[in-house]
This record gives sequence, structure tokens and C-alpha cells, in this order.
Amino acid sequence: MKSSRLTVAPATAQKLARLGLVEPMDLVLHLPLRYEDETRITAIADAPYQHSVQIEGEVRQCEVRRQPRKQLRVLLADASGAVWLRFLHFYPSQEKLCAVGQRLRAVGEVRRGFQGDEMVHPKIHAVGDNDVLPEAMTPVYPTVQGLNQSTLRRLIGQALALEDLSDTLPAALRAELALPDFADAVHTLHHPPPDCAQQALALRRLPAWQRLKFDELLAQQLAMRILYRQRRHGGSPRLCGDGRLRQALLAQLPFALTAAQQRVLAEIDADLASPHPMRRLLQGDVGSGKTVVAALAALTAIEAGYQAALMAPTELLAEQHYLKLRDWLTPLGLTVAWTSGSQKKSERQAARAAMASGAAQLTVGTHALFQDDIDFARLGLAIVDEQHRFGVGQRLALSGKGGEPHQLMMSATPIPRTLAMSYYADLDVSVIDELPPGRTPIVTKLINAARRGEVMGAVAHAVAQGRQAYWVCPLIEESETLQLQTAVDTHVELQAALPGVAVGLVHGRMKSADKAAVMAAFSRNEVQLLVATTVIEVGVDVPNASLMVIEHAERMGLAQLHQLRGRVGRGAAESRCVLLFEAPLSDLAKARLKVMYDTTDGFEIARQDLQLRGPGEFLGARQSGAPMLRFADPEADQPLLDVARNWATRLLAEHPDAVDAHLRRWLSGKEQFLRA
Ligand code: ADP
Ligand code: MG
Repeated sequence: MKSSRLTVAPATAQKLARLGLVEPMDLVLHLPLRYEDETRITAIADAPYQHSVQIEGEVRQCEVRRQPRKQLRVLLADASGAVWLRFLHFYPSQEKLCAVGQRLRAVGEVRRGFQGDEMVHPKIHAVGDNDVLPEAMTPVYPTVQGLNQSTLRRLIGQALALEDLSDTLPAALRAELALPDFADAVHTLHHPPPDCAQQALALRRLPAWQRLKFDELLAQQLAMRILYRQRRHGGSPRLCGDGRLRQALLAQLPFALTAAQQRVLAEIDADLASPHPMRRLLQGDVGSGKTVVAALAALTAIEAGYQAALMAPTELLAEQHYLKLRDWLTPLGLTVAWTSGSQKKSERQAARAAMASGAAQLTVGTHALFQDDIDFARLGLAIVDEQHRFGVGQRLALSGKGGEPHQLMMSATPIPRTLAMSYYADLDVSVIDELPPGRTPIVTKLINAARRGEVMGAVAHAVAQGRQAYWVCPLIEESETLQLQTAVDTHVELQAALPGVAVGLVHGRMKSADKAAVMAAFSRNEVQLLVATTVIEVGVDVPNASLMVIEHAERMGLAQLHQLRGRVGRGAAESRCVLLFEAPLSDLAKARLKVMYDTTDGFEIARQDLQLRGPGEFLGARQSGAPMLRFADPEADQPLLDVARNWATRLLAEHPDAVDAHLRRWLSGKEQFLRA
């Protein structure tokens, strides 16, 4: 804790940091999970079951029992009745506190026990003669092990008293939106008066909650706007090509660009030609042809005398990109380098030397590529595939490397408008809204796993007709080893069951050379059936594959299923996707599978996904670390988000000092966010 006013022991500071509490303002904004009502005493006889209440009485009995297990039992009585307090773990000090004749207050839920009514592990304390009841509800905070509620309450109380809580919003704004004062809002949320219905607090409907949500959304919109503006002032090389390399690649491709591909390419070209860094998100459903757009953008950078880099979230995907781009670019006389965490040291050094000298015009690798210390001779364009897997933090971290290269981020996960507006407001967005022609829609079937044998028959039939197929093994979240084992077993099983079919296996733990060899064999149709773990989820492209079987589809999320299914339906042949499920299905699994059955439209799937899951998880908070919003939910609070956006514009124009004060409060200690 870096405040001169608030001193915290180092050990406590460490625990606070685990909660993300570093600055005193973080403590102010650390809000309770729930509240306990210690403002009133309930008569023991009136205490309802299963409701937290506070009772007060005198200890009549206190005993330590050893049977059936060691426990402390205390009989507490008031004028109306008596109740047992039972502790399964207790300290000698607690035993002492419960001496017969002592007056105690206990907070907990009364329930029916074997020996009559009881409270298990109530919170207790001794009452003196002139003990007064608190006037506000008692907050219960999220915490970590070793940091108790009373310490947190004390520190938060100090922060509330010492920090400057004066309002950052102009009075006109507060009046227009009928928002309470900031200091009032935080005080209310930490110590609400007892007449505040618990439910309104829990539902976050109080004006105090609105205030915090608005402040947070406003800070986010301001920060994004400022980032955007800074970027407009930042310098980047103007990348204008003569079109020579592009023409050569286009001439060599077996297809013409779709109108949508041409449109997004024009948008990218305009950015590349400008002297400010591009930060553009290229969205396009699975199979819409983002890779070729990326390649053409890279060629413009190369024509202009700069280098380009492409990074992907998984090694398998990075490798696929590498192989494809090498095939496309080598005939143009260009050098494509490949770098990955698993390659030999000598190979990696060679790749790095080629990047540093400028000998490699394009480098492909996993995203570690941008995290290590890497020198490029002249990096002009960085392309990030499957951007939705990288959090905002990583997006910002990237921007510092290699001067200010232009950045193109690509995502197959369509981000609903509200999320795009809140989380990606600092980016420009291009959308490929059309699939290449000649694709036949994928037919999806939901089949009970009991009929797995028939599905194997259908695979044999498809292969006999010259088709290729994927067989995706179930996701086993609790154990990667088990998941591998399942893939290996399935491979053996399918080989035995389908004589005459070449069955390949690919999984995350294979050496990358082996993985590449299997993928190459599958691409050349030397392998007809590919057994895979979910490593093929993103980006793998084998147009002749037209059948996909996914085992235990009920365990997978919608985004993942959509990505997997997108591996087929890339050629002219009619494609099928079989989702095998194990009955009985949970309601959520049923809802997900129905969505998959009903539509292949990625935008619709994303919308449904958002509804089923909520936005935090949708954006992959798990992968990307701390979510940016703690109080507001851009979907549920969309009207507030709209207001915050409009006010962000007004404040930047009319109240620069309010902007400063507001960001200092809400981004305390996170200023690097603004510098990125
Ligand atoms: P994604 O957008 O999912 O990354 P890809 O870039 O992998 O999609 O493209 C999917 C497939 O479509 C690839 O085989 C690619 O070569 C092909 N493709 C891309 N653009 C076109 C087009 N304009 N016409 C026909 N096929 C195309
Ligand atoms: Mg792709």
C-alpha cells in the first residue's frame, strides 16, 4: 500500500495484493459480497429457520463433547427460549468466552438439530453492560485465506476515512442522471442502513450501485477514447505498396476474393497508408477467408520495404499458417520464418537471426513471439489471429514492441455490439460478412452416444466415397492425461473398426514435427480419418474434409463447438457434423446443442452464447486474466453504457479536469494502461 496515510504490514499487504487491492482507492472500491444485520436482536423463540439473525442471551451450559466427534456445545438462553451453539472447530479462547453466566451475542442461522434448535458456527462476541447496537449493516467482504473480516473492515474503514472521496463528476451530469454523490454511494454500499432491503442491495438496484456502475463504465469509455486519440497521434510507417507482390499472389490463387474480402482489404490499406498505428479488428465467421486477407496485408508491408509478423494462439494453428503462407509466398521470392517454443534452439536462433537482419520478410509463430525479446529489422505490421483469446492486457502489452507497428487482429468469434462498444471501443472494426461462394451448408445431427456404432459406419461410408473426416475426442477438463489417453484409445479403436481406412492421430502433447507430419498427410488425403483432441479447434484448414464427429458434445461450450464445426464445410462437398451426446443432458447442455442444431450463423451463436453464459466468461476472462469491469455488465447495463459513452465525449470536450480526476480515481495504479 503506497499511501503515506494508510500503513499496512507487509504480510497483510501481500494478502491484499492477492485480492487486487494495491492502492487505498482499491480498498474503497472493494465492495461487500453481502451484509449481516447486527442492528437488531431477534428473540430466540422468534428466529426463523435458515435466516441469518442476531440473538443475545446468557450461557447456561458449556461443554466439550468427544462423541461423535470433538465439538463445543453451548446453550444460550434469553427470556423467550434457548438454542444450542455448536462449534466443530474451536480455540481455547472461544471455549473461555462461552463460560456459564456470560452474556453473548451470536449471529448465524438457526436450524433444527438432533438435540433441538441449534446454530452451527455462529459468529459470537461477549456483550458488556453499555454495548450499543451498530446503526448500519455489517459488511462481509470477499477475502483470501489468512485475511479476516475484521482486518479488512478496519482497513477499508480507514481508507474510507482518509481517501479523498470528493466527486469527480460535474454537478450537471449528476443532476441529469439523478446519481448520488460518490462519497455517499460508497459509504452506503459499505455500510447500508438497515432499512435498505437486502434484496435491492443484492440485485444492485440501489442508486448507489448505479453510481458505481456509471463511474466504472465512464472510466472505461474515457480510457478507450484517450487510447484511441493517443494512437491517432502516434507515429507509424506509412505502408504503401506498388501491388506487385499482391498481384502475383492473387494470380496464383485458385479463387477470386469475395466482395467482402475486397472491402475489408481496402479498409486495412487505408489504415496502413496512414502515418498512425492501425489497431483494427478483423471479424469474420469461421471459414470466411481471413487468412488470405492477412497475407495480402502482409504483402503490402513487404512491398513497402517492411517486415510482417503473424502470431496465433496455438502451435498447431501457427504451424498451419506457416505452411500455408510459405506455400503462397515462397514462389514470390520471399522468405517466411517460423519460430515456436518447441523448436530446436539452433532453429530458433536461425529464425531470430533472419528476423533481426531483415532476411525474413514474414515471420509466423505462437504469441510467445511477441512476449520474448525479439528484434525485427523493420517490423511494419503485426497480425494476431484469433484475437478473442487475448485479453485487453495482452493487446496493450503488444503495442510497445518494435516501435509502433500497425496491428491487425483477427477473430472468428463475433463480438456482439454491446461488448464491442465497451471492451473494444479503442479498436476499429472490419467485418467479412459473406462466405466464399460454392459452400454447401453444414447439416448438423444430434445423436445419442448409444448409436456410436452407426456413426462409425457412416464414417466408413463417407471415406469410401473419397471424403475425409475428423473424429474429435471429448474434452476432459479435469485431466489432460485422461484426455490424451482417450484420444489414443479412440485411435486404436477406430483403426481396428475401420480396416482399409488410414486413421491419423493428432493431440496437443505431440512433438510439433510429428503434428505437422500428420496434418500434412491429412491435407494430402493420405490420412482419411483424423482423430483429434480439441487442439484442432481453431484455424485448421483441409477443404476436402466434409464430416466431423464430436464426442461428448454436451461438455463443450458453444464457441468451441462452432469453431470445431467450422473445420468442415470448406469445400464444395455437402458437409455433415455429428454431435454425439451422452444422455441425460443438463438443461444448459440441451440449450447449447439446440442452438448448434438450429443455426450455423456465428453471430447468432455468439448472441445465444452470451445469453446462456453472461459476458465475463464470453470474453474468455479465464484466459485473459482480470476482467476490466467489476461492477457493470455491458449487456445488462446497456442503457447506462450508452449514457457513459455520450458523456465521455462531452467531458473530454468540456471538462478536461473532471476527466483527469475521474481516471486517477478509477485507474489508480493502472496508469500504464493509458501510456500503452
Ligand atoms: P478463416 O476466416 O476461418 O480463417 P480461412 O482463411 O482459413 O478462414 O479460409 C477458409 C478456406 O476458404 C480456405 O481454404 C481458403 O483458402 C478459402 N478461401 C478464402 N477466400 C476464398 C474465396 N474468396 N473464394 C474461395 N475460397 C476462399
Ligand atoms: Mg483462421
